[in-house]
Amino acid sequence: MRVWAIANQKGGVGKTTTTLALGRSLVLRGLSVLLVDLDPHASLTRAFGVPSDPQPAGVVDLFGAPPATLAGVMRPAPVEGLDFVCAQTALATLERRSANQPGLGLALSQAITRHTGGHDVVLLDCPPTLGLLMVNALAAADRLIVPTQCEPLALHGLAGMVRTGAMVERSRQRPLPVSVLPTLFDRRTRAGRDTLAQLQQEYRELAWDQAIPVDTQLANADALAQQVFSGEPGGRAMTAYARALDWLLAGEQQLERAA
Ligand code: ADP
Ligand code: MG
Repeated sequence: MRVWAIANQKGGVGKTTTTLALGRSLVLRGLSVLLVDLDPHASLTRAFGVPSDPQPAGVVDLFGAPPATLAGVMRPAPVEGLDFVCAQTALATLERRSANQPGLGLALSQAITRHTGGHDVVLLDCPPTLGLLMVNALAAADRLIVPTQCEPLALHGLAGMVRTGAMVERSRQRPLPVSVLPTLFDRRTRAGRDTLAQLQQEYRELAWDQAIPVDTQLANADALAQQVFSGEPGGRAMTAYARALDWLLAGEQQLERAA
């Protein structure tokens, strides 16, 4: 089982969209995928049409005493081969409530290690803050995927996230390879083109040499869910995500050869 964390300390860069689109693309290749919504904003959960009231079972329960299992809290998505775990609004206060409970940084990692649900890939949709949930995600991940909006200010967020990944890598003594995925690319704007060029020059082989284009079909949660869960997902962005997945999987093979 592979665990990919989709993270960036900046909001609105396409983390949730990337999680859904990569999840769907993996399923189309015949793999079984579990998506975990770690963001208290719960955009991924909403995309699956799950209301936050009454509060669904989900990620918070993995931090309970005793902790719930992933199999106990996951739900099937409307697509065969895809399951998901909901975020709850209670995630927002998890940090404060668990301040005197040591060892919670590994709760997710342990839940994933114990998981026997037969999933090939687990995708973690991370919150934009560097707190307990992000720490859990990075501790559990085999790989860090950083969606980065193609606009000048986004490069700061990217640098911060890459530094955080390197810090985690040092402290856990297990590699955490980073892949940078340029998103929301508008090739008609100068700023978009310049940012993409700069990003690819600075990050070289860590960055995909293409970008996910802005696609009006993905511009809101409803449209996104419709796209991602339709029988034949097409469209500019979904097609690009399928190519991005080729790149990510090729990198995976390289890692396996190197190991
Ligand atoms: P994050 O999870 O990083 O906050 P989202 O995935 O929620 O980011 O994306 C932020 C907003 O941008 C959402 O409204 C989403 O629908 C939109 N969006 C994401 N990717 C694209 C894209 N390729 N084309 C158009 N809109 C997009
Ligand atoms: Mg999100």
